Formats: sequence, C-alpha cells, structure tokens
Amino acid sequence: MLRRLLLSFAALPLFPAVAAHDPAALRDAAAQTDTLAWSITEGLTTEVGQRLAATESEARSREWAVARLKALGFANVRIEPFTMPRWDRGAASATVLSPFPQTLAIAALGYSGSTPKAGIDADVVAFDGLAALKAAPAAAIAGKIVYVTHHMAAQQDGGSYGALSPIRTVAPGMAAQKGAAAILIRSIGTDHHRVPHTGVTRFPEGTRSIPAAALSTVDAEQLDRILARGKPVKLHLEVATRLTGRAQSGNVVAEVPGSDPKAGIILIGGHLDSWDLGTGAIDDATGVAITTAAAKRIMDAGQPRRTIRIVWFGAEEVGGFGGDAYAKAHGAEKHMVVAESDFGADRVWSLAVNTGAQGNPMVERLSEVLAPLGITRSHGAAHGGTDVEPTAATGTAVMDLRQDGLRYFDLHHTADDTLDKVDPAQLRQNVAAWTAALAVLANDPVELTPPPATATGE
Ligand code: ZN
Ligand code: ZN
Repeated sequence: MLRRLLLSFAALPLFPAVAAHDPAALRDAAAQTDTLAWSITEGLTTEVGQRLAATESEARSREWAVARLKALGFANVRIEPFTMPRWDRGAASATVLSPFPQTLAIAALGYSGSTPKAGIDADVVAFDGLAALKAAPAAAIAGKIVYVTHHMAAQQDGGSYGALSPIRTVAPGMAAQKGAAAILIRSIGTDHHRVPHTGVTRFPEGTRSIPAAALSTVDAEQLDRILARGKPVKLHLEVATRLTGRAQSGNVVAEVPGSDPKAGIILIGGHLDSWDLGTGAIDDATGVAITTAAAKRIMDAGQPRRTIRIVWFGAEEVGGFGGDAYAKAHGAEKHMVVAESDFGADRVWSLAVNTGAQGNPMVERLSEVLAPLGITRSHGAAHGGTDVEPTAATGTAVMDLRQDGLRYFDLHHTADDTLDKVDPAQLRQNVAAWTAALAVLANDPVELTPPPATATGE
C-alpha cells in the first residue's frame, strides 16, 4: 500500500514546484535547468537549416514550428500567411584584373541586381564612408564599381551597427543614382574572417537595382592595400541574383491564454526566417527559442492574468514583412507591451522600458527581479526590434532585454551563423531573464501604458 502511494506521488506532475508565478523562483529554475531553448535552436537549425524568406525552406520551418509549439502545449497555434517579393541569391564572384590579379570573397546583398551573364569589367572608385560617397559628383562615379569602406568596432550595445548599416542599406541606391555600374561595400561586421556579411539593401523607387555585394572584412583590407599602391584597379564582377515575383511567407502564432481578456496582450517572439548563408542560429533561432522557452515556463506554472502571444515572425531579414502583416491583422487589439529577442544569445545585460508613467511600479518590479542576473536598468529608449515596431507604433509600451553585442557582428548574416556559436550557459541566462520578466508582466496588478509620442524611455 505504501509503495503504491509512493508510486502515485511519483507520477504527479513536477509543477508547481514553485509557487505559481513567483518571478524569482521561476527565474532561478530557468537559470539552473532550462534545456528547451537549446532544444528548439538545435532542432530548427538541424532539421530545417537556412530559412530564406518566401522559399520552400521557410515554408518547412513554419510547419516545423507549428508541430513543435503544439507539442509543447500552447493554445491557438496557427500560421498567418502573407505574400511578399521573393529574391534568390544565385552566384556572385569578384576578381581583380589589374594591377594584381586575384579573387576576392563577396556575398550579394538582398535585392541586389545582376550583372549580364558574362559579368562586367570596370575600374574601382573608393570612398571612406557614406558622407564621402554622398559628396562625390556623378561624373566621378558613372560607369565605375563604387567601393565603400568604414571602420566598424565591436560595441556592447551594437551602436556601431546602427551608425554604419546605412552603408549597406543606403549607399547602393545612392551609387545607382550617380550612374555606378555596381557597388561593393566592406561587410558591416567586426570579425577578421574570410566570410562576407549579407543583409538587405534598398533601391529607391525608380532607381535601377545595380549589382551590390559585400566584401569580407579581410578582402576589403586587401582591396585597401591594392588601392593604396596608387595604380588604377580594375575588377571583374559576376552577380546572378533573381527576383521571381510574389511568394508566400507567414507568421507562426501561439498563445498562453490569460484569465483576464481586458488586461491586454503581451506580444513576444523573434523571427523564424534567416539569411541563407549560415543556418540562422543566432539570427534568430535563439530569439524564438528563448521567448518560447520562457512562455512555456509561465504556462506550466498556472494560468497567467494576461495573455502571452508568441510570434515566430516570417520575413524579417528581407524587409520586415512579417511585422507589418502582424500589425495589419492585430494592431487594433489591446497589446499592453511588445518585446522581441533578436540580437543573438549572449547574456542579457540591460533592461529598457518605454511606458507612459514615470516611476511605474511594474518597471521597478522588473528591475528588482532581473538584478540578480547581472541586468541593470537603462534609461535610454527601448527599440523593440523590426518585428514588433509596427505594432508598437499603434501605441503600446515596449520592453528590451538587451543582449551583449560584442560578439554578435562577428557572426551576423554570415556563413558562420551556426549552432556551435551559441553558448548554452548564456542562452539559459536569457531564458531566466525572459521568464522573470514575463512572470511580472503577465500578472502585475498595474499596467504599462503607452509612452507619449516624444518619449525617450521610462
Ligand atoms: Zn534578426
Ligand atoms: Zn538579421
């Protein structure tokens, strides 16, 4: 009899091992034991691999996500499809013809145009930074291959990316408007490996899409040295990208339903699509994995007051189509706060919240529960990220759990964005931070209100 009793106790679920939604206890359990975020990251990068938006592999990743989220026990798991222009990379190569013949490692930028099949031969005209390109007369650029370099250094908050990424997003359009034959940029990255960093570029309406590619940082330095010899430098460039019309992408949505529908939704997640060079481990398999693992812990501890909606956004990399589609479909619903994880998987070091009331006690409670993880409050503005910005713009509070960016731009958008770069210990710290934050956000008696339009953070 005793044995049977013991056995029946053993069969009881482990939860609630901690008092329901005790943020500190949930935080500590996640910090010590979480393996779900790793399992999702490992599964997605192994069983699907790269997930370029609107391709068959991104479609497979949505099916993978639905199966996994259902198996984890989330409610209302579904795909919300939308269409978008599909871009395919094809092949790209660059060769120095003179004065020192040799090949250079490049990757086409998203939405780059193509060269004719035989490629193009043209002289290089070099610029140090976007301002120098902007100041140059069209006569100095027409018919040439523009090359733009820069001096990006790793920073914890990733600030150098914000400052220099217009060299990728804006310079190609500018070069095209001045009649350039093509453009090469130094990769927007901080590594010293022969792996170019891709990323999206944009050509203004009515501007021809010229071939646009990134040199690896070390190939950019090689080109700098060749140019420094003072002789004309001629390149041969072949880029074979294709735009193949509209195709389907979609957001994958799952929920932990709250007990009080009037209390507002907490929107969290990351993006499911990735660039096609690596397997999108840190950008952004870990983002969907961290937020999902945290939401699962809240769900297993008992029903929260507010609904937590997890979105694995489609098509972030190529233009934020998933975030736009979500806001179009759901922008009229009451979201109390939006937050996403899209900056790798190194440790969270800073909390930022945009909300209306100064001294909101919920923000104090968030700060307190995150402090033991080494996270301190930032008084700068929270940004939210590309996927949640369109929803934030409808008037919601925004929260950032900022990750350490010192390593991020060594890997970002390269063939090196693979599972082995994820540190399981730091990944667990992320899950602990999100779990603690969700436990507060989902149950707090006060509300985070939207900031006034001019707010720069709580
Ligand atoms: Zn991302
Ligand atoms: Zn990215």
